[in-house]
Amino acid sequence: MAMNVAVKPGSAPKRVTILGSTGSIGTSTIDLILRNPEAFEVEALTGNKNVKLLAEQALKLKPQLVVAADQAQYAELKQALAGTNIAVAAGPEAVVEAAMRPSDLVMSAIVGAAGLAATLAAVRRGTSVALANKESLVCAGDLMTEAVKRHNATLLPVDSEHNAIFQCFEADRRKSIEKLILTASGGPFRTRKREELRDVTPAQAVAHPNWSMGAKISIDSATMMNKGLEVIEASHLFAMTEDRIDVIVHPQSIIHSMVAYEDGSVLAQLGSPDMRTPIAYTLAWPHRMPAPSARLDLAKIATLSFEPPDEVRFPALRLARQALKDGGTAPTVLNASNEVAVYSFLAGKVGYLDMTGVVEETLTAMPPVPMTSLEQLAAVDGEARSIAERRVQVLGRGR
Ligand code: NAD
Ligand code: MG
Repeated sequence: MAMNVAVKPGSAPKRVTILGSTGSIGTSTIDLILRNPEAFEVEALTGNKNVKLLAEQALKLKPQLVVAADQAQYAELKQALAGTNIAVAAGPEAVVEAAMRPSDLVMSAIVGAAGLAATLAAVRRGTSVALANKESLVCAGDLMTEAVKRHNATLLPVDSEHNAIFQCFEADRRKSIEKLILTASGGPFRTRKREELRDVTPAQAVAHPNWSMGAKISIDSATMMNKGLEVIEASHLFAMTEDRIDVIVHPQSIIHSMVAYEDGSVLAQLGSPDMRTPIAYTLAWPHRMPAPSARLDLAKIATLSFEPPDEVRFPALRLARQALKDGGTAPTVLNASNEVAVYSFLAGKVGYLDMTGVVEETLTAMPPVPMTSLEQLAAVDGEARSIAERRVQVLGRGR
């Protein structure tokens, strides 16, 4: 008999809801659940437009509810699951309702600020939330961490860097922690000169050297905005100020991040670059479970190298650090304008170098104000998107 390793021996299976089940993180999560079927039951799945995959997942996992965020997919999803007793719904509110249903763990793996409402709904249930959707923490950091405290929820970081730090972070010794050290692969353009970046195509930019990921985070990795978002994410997850979060480029992506202590000790978590390791950690927490990620062969890898990040070639990191220092709504503006810039680049409307330009100009146009409510945040997010869109149109005409 297979051992029920992902939950306490003898206890019932963990009930899991997966938001963004059809994405890169979502499908890796399902892969792990299918390999450990005794340990988990799926409460709800949500996707957006890929109804075929969503229905396929539902037939395998037999959740209570399946939701397509895109309202237009309702009929097709309903049809695909006809004859089953799986409930079907569509639209953004239904995604939030999926997060509100009772479960032991919510995997938050929607991409972008679109994941905020459902992630917050899960947090307000006081449950464990495995957080991959870093943009929700970037755009609403203080509101989110307040809600986590108030509702006694647990955030389990899925992002490999934050998962590594979570594993090395001795919470009861947090006063002895000097720094968090986030590693960065440097992305596909690590060794290119800035002028060589002008004409890179979306296809070149999404081709990450170490990780296979969704399109948006792949572009963020190519500009290093991903690392900027992660500095902000780390500041909220671990209550650390900007000056105590270092970034080091480590092209092999073997050390996933580190925690430096006052006695000079530096603790690191290592592994092959496969998201199933940090996802398994969050699924099994506070226990561990097996994951099929390739085992490290350090003799074969032979060399781990490090270099400082170059904020001249990759200005996104500097913009994100500044937004974190400025505080208030600055990270909300950074995130919203970056989403517009990334999707405009993917659609061929602007060039690679234009992306950080769009973000910088939007930040300049919208000086930060203190963050007070979700309604205000939604308005700021919307305004930042329209300013960024206008800038994209101007740049597009010049191309
Ligand atoms: P992806 O594009 O592969 O998947 C995104 C998921 O979100 C899909 O299920 C899609 O259907 C859903 N979705 C998209 N738009 C939506 C909307 N408007 N409303 C509701 N659902 C919507 O993305 P991904 O690479 O899996 O990344 C998901 C999140 O995890 C991102 O925040 C990313 O930064 C983070 N993350 C990903 C990785 C990785 O290796 N892929 C690593 C670290 C962090
Ligand atoms: Mg990461």
